[in-house]
Amino acid sequence: MKAKKIAVLGSTGSIGTQTLDVIRMHSDRFKVQSVAARSNLELISKQIKEFVPEKAFIYDKDLACVLRARFPDIFVLSGEDGLCMLAQDREVDIVVNAIVGASGLIPSLCAVRAGKRLCTANKESLVMAGEILMSLAGQTGTKIIPIDSEHSALLQAMLSGSHSEISRLILTASGGPFFGKDVDYDTLKPEQALNHPNWSMGPKISIDSATMMNKALEVIEAHWLFDIPPEKIDVVIHPQSIIHSIVEFVDGSQIAQMSIPDMKLPVQYALTYPERLESTINALNLEELEELTFYPADRETFPALGLAFKALEIGGTAPAILNAADEIAVNAFLNGKIRFSEITSLVQECMNSIKITHRISLEDILDADRTARDWMVEGIKEQAR
Ligand code: NDP
Ligand code: MG
Repeated sequence: MKAKKIAVLGSTGSIGTQTLDVIRMHSDRFKVQSVAARSNLELISKQIKEFVPEKAFIYDKDLACVLRARFPDIFVLSGEDGLCMLAQDREVDIVVNAIVGASGLIPSLCAVRAGKRLCTANKESLVMAGEILMSLAGQTGTKIIPIDSEHSALLQAMLSGSHSEISRLILTASGGPFFGKDVDYDTLKPEQALNHPNWSMGPKISIDSATMMNKALEVIEAHWLFDIPPEKIDVVIHPQSIIHSIVEFVDGSQIAQMSIPDMKLPVQYALTYPERLESTINALNLEELEELTFYPADRETFPALGLAFKALEIGGTAPAILNAADEIAVNAFLNGKIRFSEITSLVQECMNSIKITHRISLEDILDADRTARDWMVEGIKEQAR
């Protein structure tokens, strides 16, 4: 069998490095065609040495010059258009989008437009432009396969029935590091919020998990990926992160996917879907599981969830505004500019302040993204005065 060529975008991050772990394990099936990072020169250099891709991308132009000098045989790209070139590279069979934030949107669009299989961890592109991406995938006849563990679980559970037989999607949420704890959200430090109990992830998603904004984004992601209306999507807190999500069918059956929490599993499933391959991940030892517990995830306790449902109800550019505002707020918290408790409230204020556009061309979405970012930067400055 000819090895499938993969573009690994965001190769130096948490999901990117785990994708390379999976590819290393199945080197007879997969070959790295390209790697891409923003600024981690040393790690991307190490990856180029090991995987010998044909192309590489580093956002920063000066760092790209260094990379070219180090690897004269490799085609090195940088700047705004480079990621898109990697995503639509003729040689590529599969694009893994493991970029964090809104920067993942254009590469997702380029991959789908070029008819590539898009395995995406980047939920932000679906939150911002789910309708456009899904309709484009329909036109080019390609598949968008989620890497997010909840959505991977849903995809697997969905194989048990037809779309019209689904009555509900139940997304599980660990609740993050503070669930059930008595915490002073005003004095909380970034290090505390970055310390997720079950998963080791990049900083943005770790903070999003602590505020539940991650689950909020995932509700929107599930809506677009699976074409399920918001009123049929629920969230339940499940602190052990063993059940990754559940599909409920009209006959009352609930099909769940369970495994130890390890992102290499959904990464591998996305690459091999609908097949399964052996992996290095041990199956659960059920006798050793102490307990599986579930708690309601109500929108009063977790206002971020309420914002997701509100954004879906409003539609248009509202989810893009939510996404952009959150990205700025999380950065501001990580840089000590705002308190943890202000993340969600500022996002809410931003959503209430910016005019929503109901036509949703890509231009409208990018425009909403920019406007929300500007609003947030000003709002945060104002607050500091
Ligand atoms: P990380 O912060 O660990 O990694 C982000 C990656 O994106 C890095 O390789 C970074 O490069 C790269 N990057 C950022 N901006 C650009 C850019 N403009 N051009 C090229 N590369 C860029 O994030 P995660 O791996 O945690 O998350 C990635 C995505 O996966 C997010 O959307 C997240 O929500 C999602 N996800 C992550 C999970 C996890 O377990 N980590 C689980 C489920 C979903 P550099 O290193 O040089 O900065
Ligand atoms: Mg997830």
